[in-house]
Amino acid sequence: MKLLLKSAVPLALLAAASVGAQDFPGTKPISIVVPFAAGGPTDLVARQLAEALRKPLNGATVVVENAAGAGGTIGANKVAKAPADGHTLLLYHIGIATSPALYRNLPYKTLEDFEYLGMVNEVPMTLIGRPTLPASNYAELAKWLEANKGKINLANAGLGAASHLCGLLFQSALKLEMTTVPYKGTAPAMTDLIGGQVDLMCDQTTNTSSQIEGKKVKAFGVTTRQRLTTPALKHLPTLQEVGLKDFEVNIFHGLYAPKGVPAPVLKKLNDALKVALKDPDFVRRQNELGAVIVNDKRVEPAEHKKFVASEINKWTPVIRAAGVYAD
Ligand code: ASP
Repeated sequence: MKLLLKSAVPLALLAAASVGAQDFPGTKPISIVVPFAAGGPTDLVARQLAEALRKPLNGATVVVENAAGAGGTIGANKVAKAPADGHTLLLYHIGIATSPALYRNLPYKTLEDFEYLGMVNEVPMTLIGRPTLPASNYAELAKWLEANKGKINLANAGLGAASHLCGLLFQSALKLEMTTVPYKGTAPAMTDLIGGQVDLMCDQTTNTSSQIEGKKVKAFGVTTRQRLTTPALKHLPTLQEVGLKDFEVNIFHGLYAPKGVPAPVLKKLNDALKVALKDPDFVRRQNELGAVIVNDKRVEPAEHKKFVASEINKWTPVIRAAGVYAD
């Protein structure tokens, strides 16, 4: 009797799980949580991806929900604690790998509390300034920074955000401390930068390309090793070129689900992600903004989890050395 019970329960569970998986996503919408403000670069990737996912998910409704704050960790925590049914996903960036070192009391375990669905893209960053800044290239900016020590404001999207990480590296490369001004995302930060309320910001090209092209902000360099080929950005030098030794930041975005989503549902989501990342419209729109879509190998869940673990190992010592953290 005991034995019969033991085997009957898991079988029933298995049956329930597979029926659910067969129907997934059904009529219930899928929500992609973006842990930053609407209108910013993470939001933009999520919204374009949501459109591209609709078809491979049998016409499902895929919506984007913004849960901003604390460098992305509020939204990530929301997803870590959401029902593990595949209907709540997280689109996060490099912050998933920098927050374990930056937050002493992170309310979730980065490598244990999520299902890793796969990587989405890589996006370079640009160093930009307010339009009224009296500098039009990096050499002029360097002089201005030197002359204005102690008075420089640097916008970011909170501790653990990509803009925060890039700003940290910038300050440490120059051995110059700046006053950081945190926002809930770089969309509101961009509004203030254009308005001249803050001096500088480092942000993904998905948010800065059109502002640079439209001359709404000053641009001083890109954070990649090589110059970019995107028409709007190819005139910009790399920050290494202008003298910031080894300066390199490339932002990745990945898709995650709460731990415990049934394997067949995960497979459907991962398959759909692979199809979405080949959607010609999605690829073109991303490429135009400087983003590079990753290949199938990097969309493999195990591969992406391994990559995030390696990024944690890469950034933890850098962040520790900077002595920055939040309780
Ligand atoms: N680009 C932002 C960052 O600094 C986040 C965002 O607003 O999407 O991480």
